[in-house]
Amino acid sequence: MEPATVYLLGALMMMANGGVLGLMHRDFPPSLRPSAVTWRIGTLLHACGCTMFMVQDSLPHSFVLPLANGLVMGGFTCYWGALRQFYGTPRTLLQLAPVTAGVIGVYWYAGVAPNPMGRMVVVSLVWMALLALCIHNLLLQSRRDRAWSRQVMAGIFIVLLMTVAFRLGWFLTVGMAPDYSGLDGSLWMNMASPVVVSIMPVIGTTAFLLMCSERIRRQWERAASTDYLTGLANRRTLADAGATRFEQARVRGRGFGLGVIDIDHFKSINDRYGHDVGDAALKHVAARLELACREGELPARQGGEEFVVLFDDVAHDSVLAAGERLRHAVAGSPFIAGEVMVPVTVSIGVAVCMPEDMEFDSVLRRADAALYAAKQGGRNRVECAALVTRMPELVPGTVV
Ligand code: GH3
Ligand code: MG
Ligand code: MG
Repeated sequence: MEPATVYLLGALMMMANGGVLGLMHRDFPPSLRPSAVTWRIGTLLHACGCTMFMVQDSLPHSFVLPLANGLVMGGFTCYWGALRQFYGTPRTLLQLAPVTAGVIGVYWYAGVAPNPMGRMVVVSLVWMALLALCIHNLLLQSRRDRAWSRQVMAGIFIVLLMTVAFRLGWFLTVGMAPDYSGLDGSLWMNMASPVVVSIMPVIGTTAFLLMCSERIRRQWERAASTDYLTGLANRRTLADAGATRFEQARVRGRGFGLGVIDIDHFKSINDRYGHDVGDAALKHVAARLELACREGELPARQGGEEFVVLFDDVAHDSVLAAGERLRHAVAGSPFIAGEVMVPVTVSIGVAVCMPEDMEFDSVLRRADAALYAAKQGGRNRVECAALVTRMPELVPGTVV
């Protein structure tokens, strides 16, 4: 096979891959589309660049080499830009600096002062810079995005960077004939490098598709498990977690407690300040609860202005203390709506899982009864189910 054939195959594969990305475009959520379009432009530029390399000896070098290299470098610039968009980093005109420097350098060493080694150095340095920027962008996300496809993508760019560095080192070592042509098939490096440089971006586009599908899957999972307004776990997640905790309590004896939390006089906040302020108050309370929760505790929005928190505590006095912690967290931080300060308090009913409980919901029902008692007792207070249902006359509640 000749280098020209390798370039042709690379261009065809890249166009096919870009086409697949185009077919999937409508299935992508709007947040991913700009990044996918930029990546697709990258594959197109890359494919055009490979085609130009294929015909490089039939056209004046001062024209075809800056064009071909510019197109491939433009392709890599797009991959870098697509990754930045994927992770929400703003684009800047400075991103065009490497490709601009590269085209000027190649033009210089192809037309003004022809020197194949000079060209090789310029092109390799620009590619290495662009690849390093892509790798940097991917590695920056190690904490935020643990997706396997991100690591594959970083691996692909690292292999490409090493290939380009090796190719530069090889040519610097063995030297270059003044009439060097990239299409000279007798040099094994002229066969190997286009294979890597053409095939890796094809695999890269597949990895990019995987990154997109993994992002979409996570977005769906998050949407299905969290409450859209407050960002806390939703009722479904609470039911699942509750069932798991209940099973653990029965099988392994690892008990649990919970608190049902209801905002006091919430309707009057809505009536007085409007529904939007009511929503903001809900978010405020949710954030306070989340902040006050300890590791292992799960805060969830049960619905309306009602929340549930799962505790690890199994004794009545410790769930009461946990409830007090949450109550304080809300009462101690007034909600500010524009110019006005709106005091917000919550009433809480707590309960622990007892041996006679047959299901998670029965613990919830007891905490609900305690919440009712807290409301009856004057609000902004915590009541414990055991104390309410068994000894109502002895312990009227934990009064603030
Ligand atoms: P109490 O102290 O007895 O709990 O009184 P309350 O006013 O908090 O309780 P009530 O059940 O009378 O009213 C709850 C209100 O919560 C009524 C409903 O319109 C409002 N609400 C429920 N969900 C939302 C929501 O997502 N956003 C807003 N803004 N209001 C909501
Ligand atoms: Mg309510
Ligand atoms: Mg209420």
